[in-house]
Amino acid sequence: MKFSEMAYKRPDLEKVETDFNALLVKFDAAQNAQEQTEILGKINELKNEFTTYASIASVRNSIDTTNAFYEAEQEFFDVNEPLIKDLHIRFYKALGSSKFKDELQKKFGNQLFKLADVSLKTFDTSIIEDLKEENKLGTQYTKLVASAEVEFNGQKLTLPALSAFMESTDREVRKKAYIANQGFFAAHEKEFDEIYDKLVKVRTTIAHKLGYKNFVELAYYRMARTDYNAAMVAGFREDVLKYVVPLAQKLRERQHKRIGVDKLKVYDLSHNFNSGNPKPQGSSSEIVAKGQKMYSELSSETKEFFDFMVSNDLMDLENKKGKASGGYCTMFPKYKSPFIFANFNGTVGDVDVLTHEAGHAFQCFESRNFQVEEYYWPTMESCEIHSMSMEHLTYPWMNLFFGKDTDKYKFVHLSSNILFLPYGVAVDEFQHIVYENPDMTPAERKQIWLQVDKKYRPWMDYDGIDYLERGGFWQRQGHIYRSPFYYIDYCLAQLCAFQFWSKSQKDFSAAWNDYLRLCKAGGSDSFLGLVKLANLQSPFGKGVFEPLFKELETYLDSVDDMKL
Ligand SMILES: [Zn+2]
Repeated sequence: MKFSEMAYKRPDLEKVETDFNALLVKFDAAQNAQEQTEILGKINELKNEFTTYASIASVRNSIDTTNAFYEAEQEFFDVNEPLIKDLHIRFYKALGSSKFKDELQKKFGNQLFKLADVSLKTFDTSIIEDLKEENKLGTQYTKLVASAEVEFNGQKLTLPALSAFMESTDREVRKKAYIANQGFFAAHEKEFDEIYDKLVKVRTTIAHKLGYKNFVELAYYRMARTDYNAAMVAGFREDVLKYVVPLAQKLRERQHKRIGVDKLKVYDLSHNFNSGNPKPQGSSSEIVAKGQKMYSELSSETKEFFDFMVSNDLMDLENKKGKASGGYCTMFPKYKSPFIFANFNGTVGDVDVLTHEAGHAFQCFESRNFQVEEYYWPTMESCEIHSMSMEHLTYPWMNLFFGKDTDKYKFVHLSSNILFLPYGVAVDEFQHIVYENPDMTPAERKQIWLQVDKKYRPWMDYDGIDYLERGGFWQRQGHIYRSPFYYIDYCLAQLCAFQFWSKSQKDFSAAWNDYLRLCKAGGSDSFLGLVKLANLQSPFGKGVFEPLFKELETYLDSVDDMKL
C-alpha cells in the first residue's frame, strides 16, 4: 500500500485499554501454551495497530510541521506515552509469570523474555510524573536548539543553514561560521546548563525510586542491554584509546598537511580537501534511480526491498518548506512497511541516506514477518550494525554516485568513521562520570568534559573560543540530553561494520551472506547473540581491535590523499 493511502484515525484509548486488559485476563486464564500463543498474536495485532497510527501521525507531522491536524495528533501520542508504556509493562508481567513459559520460550526464543524482564526493571507507576518531567526537559532542549537564529554575513540563519558555511573551503568563512554557531550555544549557556542539571537530577531520582545506586545501571536497562555492562564498555573505551586514538592522530596529521594550514583548529576538522568534499552527481530523483540500480545489483533481497520502497512511496527525501530537519527510518507494522525520511541537500549526506537509513529499512523489511513486534528491530547498537555496515557493503557501487570522486569518498568515509570513535567514547565516558556524580556543578561537568576530551582527542584545538575552552563543546550533542548513554551504540556497531568492511574486501559474497542472516534475525536475539550469528567477533573481545585497525591503516596508507 502506498503511504498516501494509509488511513489515519486517532486510537480510542479507552477501548485500547479495555481490549488490552481483556486479552491479558484471557492470557492468564489460558489452559495451554497454544491458547496463550493465539492470545499473544492478538495482543501483538493490537500493539501493531496502535503503533501504526502513532507512526503515521509522527511521519506526517514531520513531513509538514505546519499541519495543525497532525501536530495535535503527535501531541496526543506524546502525552499518552506513559499510559501505553504501562500497558506494555502489564503484558510483560503476564508473560514473565506465564504458566507455560517454557513452551513459549521454545516457540518465541529467550530474547522476548529477556526484553520483558529488562523492561520491568525500568518502570514503576511511582515514576510516571518524573518521566513526564524528563520528557518535558528533553523537549525544552530540542526547542531551544531549533529556535536558534544566528547573524552571519548580515543574514539571520538557522543552525542547519549555517552548517554549509562551516564546511567552506575558505578558512576565514568557516572560522567565522563556526564562531557564529558556538556563539549561539555560549549565549544560551545558562539555559543549557540548567536543562542538563535538571535532567541529571530527575534521572537520578528515578533511579533511586527504582532502587538503583545511580542512573548508570538503569540507563543500561533502559537501552535493553542484557549481555554487557558498564565494566565491559570501560574496557572497550580502553581499546579505543590504545588502538584507535594513535591512528586518528595520524589521520589528523595527514589532514593538517593536506589542507595546508599552520595548525589544525576546531573549525578545520570537517574540512578534508581544499578541492572540496566529494559530491554526489545528479538531481535527487537521479540519485534515487542510482540507488535502485545499486540495490537491484547487490542481491535479489535488496532489489525486492528497494522496489517495494519506491513503488509504495515509502521514502520522503526532498527538502521542503515546513519539513522537520534530519533523517530517520521508521515502520508501519500493520502494513509491514518501513519508511525513510530525509532532507536531501546535494551533499554526501544524500548518499548516506540511501545506504545508512536504507540499511535500517532493509533489516526491518527482512524482519517484518516475525510474530511479535519486539523482533521487528533489535536493540539500538545492533540496529546500527545494519545501517553502518550497509555503508561499507555498498562501496562497489559508489562510483555510480561519485564518479571520479569515488576514491576520495571512500577515503573520507573510512577516515571519518575512525575519527568518530574517539569522540563517541569521550561522550560515553563523560556521561558515566556525570551520572556517577550527580551533584557536580555545571562548571565541574565542563571540567570533566575537558579532561575526557583531551584524553581521546589530543589534537583538539579550540583556538581560544572562550565557551569551548571552558568545556562547553558537548552541549550541542543532543543525545547527551535526550538519549543518555545511547552514543556508545554507534561505536560498538562501528566495530562490527569495520569487520564487515574487512570481510567484504576478501570475500564479498561471504560478507553479504553473514549480513543478510543478521538482518533476517531482526531483534530475535541480544547484541552479542546477533554478533555471533553474523560471524563477527565481539567488540568486547580481546584481540579484535589490533588487527582490524592495522588493516584499516594499511589501506588508508596506500591512498595518496594529496592527489585526491
Ligand atoms: Zn542509524
